[in-house]
Amino acid sequence: MIRPELLIPAGDIEKMRYAFAFGADAVYLGIPRFSLRSRENGFKNFEQVAMAVHYAHNLGKKIYVTANVFPHNHKLASFNTYIAQLLALCQPDAWIMSDPGLIMLMREYFPGQVIHISVQSNVINHASVRFWQNNGAKRIVVSREISIEEIKQMHEACPEVELESFVHGAVCMAYSGRCLISNYLSNRDGNQGACANSCRWKYKIYQKEGRAAYEPLEGQFYLKESERPGQLFELDEDENGSYLMNSKDLCAIHLLGQLRDAGVCSFKVEGRSKSVYYVAMTTRAYRRAIDDMAAGKPFNPELMQEILSTSNRGFIDGFLRGDPGGNGQEYLMSNSQYSSYRYTGIVRQYDALKKRLKVEARNSIKVGANYELCLPQKNIFIQVKELFNEKGSPINELHGGSLAGWISYPDDPGPFVLMREPITSL
Ligand code: SF4
Repeated sequence: MIRPELLIPAGDIEKMRYAFAFGADAVYLGIPRFSLRSRENGFKNFEQVAMAVHYAHNLGKKIYVTANVFPHNHKLASFNTYIAQLLALCQPDAWIMSDPGLIMLMREYFPGQVIHISVQSNVINHASVRFWQNNGAKRIVVSREISIEEIKQMHEACPEVELESFVHGAVCMAYSGRCLISNYLSNRDGNQGACANSCRWKYKIYQKEGRAAYEPLEGQFYLKESERPGQLFELDEDENGSYLMNSKDLCAIHLLGQLRDAGVCSFKVEGRSKSVYYVAMTTRAYRRAIDDMAAGKPFNPELMQEILSTSNRGFIDGFLRGDPGGNGQEYLMSNSQYSSYRYTGIVRQYDALKKRLKVEARNSIKVGANYELCLPQKNIFIQVKELFNEKGSPINELHGGSLAGWISYPDDPGPFVLMREPITSL
């Protein structure tokens, strides 16, 4: 029985290092000019990408590079030079691509390169899988908008093509990449890597003078589209507004066995722009779930607690078990509001002489409060007894925003340690 790969987003070098330390088999990252998520991309030049590729290969892990924009003509001219410059420095294990033209250029000018078809290409049937196979693809990242049964049918029809499936993270309210809300509202093109996540913004319904934009009916508000007079759309709105298009996040950690049996060889997590804490906790939970599955153990529901410790919009299992319908939306919650823990800092070093941990604070850390240190294999509960600023003077609170300080602590916990605080109000 195969053990599918765990594929984690690497928004920058640090996130990549944590992803591998917490159990990733492979990571994916973007190149600045031809990748989506271009604004939040921590890899700014070829040297940084090459450094990441060498780091992964030294660990015996894999690294895939995304070049999944849909470029306009003016961007095409630089493509060959750009790819050649990167290949002179390193050899990624595969390229994640969407645009048929770029894929053709890659095959013509760099024939040895491995191509994975991005989720942006919306592959939702086995004929499309065959099409991309005939056009040089080794692997397909299947569309998020299909069921496990449909994935199984793809695998049965094209068993020699690798199938990769997203199992976790944010989802679009449209077919991935087929949305122009961000272009319209902020002139930022989602298909050029500049999406402003406009579907998650807060919208309000206002009444224009002399023309009702909404109609109250038995205490409930309804939205009406001008061409459909008899059809009312129920609208929930509280004092914070209404999140009309805010999709819940995908979480399929409990479905990994079914996905593997359907033929999925790579489980992919979304979130190149999310925090190192999200990367570490999500990786660790999925690593344990995959290892349990490979050992023939049932899914451990306690792993959901780890998943819920990262910020989220509420979870659904996407379309994997059918259309989620209205349950797929979170109408009354701002972006990423839920979490059972607050990410408070990243441990940078241990001073063995003074027995202190150096922490770079992401949120406030206070004397007397309880925290957890999150390591790749375990969590350690601590109470902060003494706190010092970076120069070593005692303080009562270290404010967030990447300020560094010292916490007294008896032993060196080792590398890759993050700090978090339980949110007691939940
Ligand atoms: S605005 Fe939302 S649905 Fe549209 S591309 Fe961006 S994230 Fe996806």
